[in-house]
Amino acid sequence: MINLETPKKFRAFIGRANQVADHFLRANARKYDLAEHAYPKELDMLATLIDGMSDSGQGQGAGAAGVRRDENGDDDGKVKNGTNMSSLLSIIEMCWGDVGLLLSMPRQGLGNSAIASVATDEQLERYKGTWASMAITESGCGSDSAALTTTAVKDGDHYVLNGEKIFVTSGERSDSVVVWATLDKSLGRAAIKSFLVSKDTPGIRVERLEHKLGIRSSDTATIILDNCRVHEENLLGNAEIDPKQGFAGAMATFDNTRPLVAGMAVGCARASLELTRELLNEAGVGIDYDKPLQTQSYAAATFVAMEADWEAALLLTLESAWLADNRRPNSMEASMAKAKAGRVGNEITLRCVELAGSLGYSENELLEKWSRDSKILDIFEGTQQIQQLIVARRLLGLTSSELK
Ligand SMILES: Cc1cc2nc3c(=O)[nH]c(=O)nc-3n(C[C@H](O)[C@H](O)[C@H](O)COP(=O)(O)OP(=O)(O)OC[C@H]3O[C@@H](n4cnc5c(N)ncnc54)[C@H](O)[C@@H]3O)c2cc1C
Repeated sequence: MINLETPKKFRAFIGRANQVADHFLRANARKYDLAEHAYPKELDMLATLIDGMSDSGQGQGAGAAGVRRDENGDDDGKVKNGTNMSSLLSIIEMCWGDVGLLLSMPRQGLGNSAIASVATDEQLERYKGTWASMAITESGCGSDSAALTTTAVKDGDHYVLNGEKIFVTSGERSDSVVVWATLDKSLGRAAIKSFLVSKDTPGIRVERLEHKLGIRSSDTATIILDNCRVHEENLLGNAEIDPKQGFAGAMATFDNTRPLVAGMAVGCARASLELTRELLNEAGVGIDYDKPLQTQSYAAATFVAMEADWEAALLLTLESAWLADNRRPNSMEASMAKAKAGRVGNEITLRCVELAGSLGYSENELLEKWSRDSKILDIFEGTQQIQQLIVARRLLGLTSSELK
């Protein structure tokens, strides 16, 4: 194992995040896994605490909201660990506690990440304190977000939105939704813009909630936009359609959020590894890092191999957040991190179920739950295959139309 030293300024913060994850998230994990769609009221107090810490500068939120690239970064060439890194470290701890509950954290939605990434300074101020979910996916548009059909038609100083969005995380509980829509389908990707739609706007409604394999404490909604009028000021960022910029504006959100989703997979897998190590110890299976693996038991050798994979995922994830903090391009690294962490997160959590035998499969422990929760982390914010496609395009210098 490579033991990276945690920067001093993060040590106390990580310790606090871990305690919070233990007391609020891990402690309620099974309760809300069983009570799907029930509102996890325990999170209200925690969210208020997190808001207070962010306002006083003692913390960076639970994760999602804190991903704006720092334009005032050091100009003296010094490298730094900043907002992205602290958000990532916090998310890893929180997802060690529970992924579904982290995704349910008030005011820390994926839409908040979009606001942080693409909103103007004025919009950032205006939308402070909102809990925003993110609505891109439609029944005919998942991996290929450019295929979306939801429209935004200009009418005076308003836009009129029409369409149906599916799989919106926190779609019911959030108080606003960042809706992706096209201003003009014939102009392709460049015409896709995002709009902040408050849930009390006439014409937006939650149609239904999904029942799911994992992250059952997180609500996943279908949202209908039926002649929903929003003021032009609600268009996030720049209204101009610039074919040269293409999808870049919208994609900036993903460069910031993919390392965080990778962090979720890292945190969840660490929880599985820690519990499995305890259970193996109790069963008398020792793990000896100084002895060749082929001389140890299958369980011990498998465990060590999983730890190595986990650490590779962690390192890639840290790198992608560090690049963002230092205002360097990170699209490829963010996709590498998401692909690696998503895949090994799935493999580790399922293998831990196997190693723990009947205990692993039973609801007495959380191992079976973690294997279910982990699956989504290799799907949303871009599937495994899509991340590999992005990495391949970057390495080969090909565009999205050249390599599909
Ligand atoms: C619980 C949950 C929460 C979600 N939360 C949100 C949310 O908050 N907001 C939101 O907008 N969306 C959300 N989603 C949607 C999610 O982002 C999409 O499900 C995901 O992007 C995949 O899209 P799809 O389901 O349409 O699959 P498809 O795009 O139809 O893909 C199906 C399969 O084909 C593969 N595939 C597709 N294209 C290619 C290609 N070119 N090459 C190789 N393989 C390919 C995919 O990897 C996948 O395995 C959520 C989904 C779930 C299940």
